[in-house]
Amino acid sequence: MTDLRVVRREAEHLIATHLDASWTFAFDNAKRRAGACDYTRQRITVSRYLAARYDDETNRQTLLHEIAHALAGAQAGHGAGWKRIARSLGYTGGVTHRGETATELAPWVGVCPAGHVAYRHRRATRPTSCARCSARFDGRFLFSWTRREISAATRRAAVTPR
Ligand SMILES: [Zn+2]
Ligand SMILES: [Zn+2]
Repeated sequence: MTDLRVVRREAEHLIATHLDASWTFAFDNAKRRAGACDYTRQRITVSRYLAARYDDETNRQTLLHEIAHALAGAQAGHGAGWKRIARSLGYTGGVTHRGETATELAPWVGVCPAGHVAYRHRRATRPTSCARCSARFDGRFLFSWTRREISAATRRAAVTPR
């Protein structure tokens, strides 16, 4: 787990370096995107939920993505202007929303007899059956769980700033 105080310190440092004093930092509670740039309130926010799970470099990349939005302005979107600024800040990630962050980072993968796949962040403590095969618990449709390694590269690739 990453210490959120470290993330906040890095965020405040980067904002002070690249933006003017009207910009501030805060954590938000998003679960499916890593960061956001609020132009109206002039605030960069980062998901406390995802930041705690990402490593320091991944969190720095999220911050750089959002700071580039602040510098480029809302109209720029993820276009050439934003991209140029983002690269100049040292941002190496992509622009697209990967969507399935929680799924990509879940180490436990379950497969039911019909081949449906489920993801969990923790080991299932009791048998779980496939909701697509049966709306209620059914021993015929149990998931079999395996644990996979989530690499740092996967974590970085799963960053979903907007
Ligand atoms: Zn199934
Ligand atoms: Zn973005």
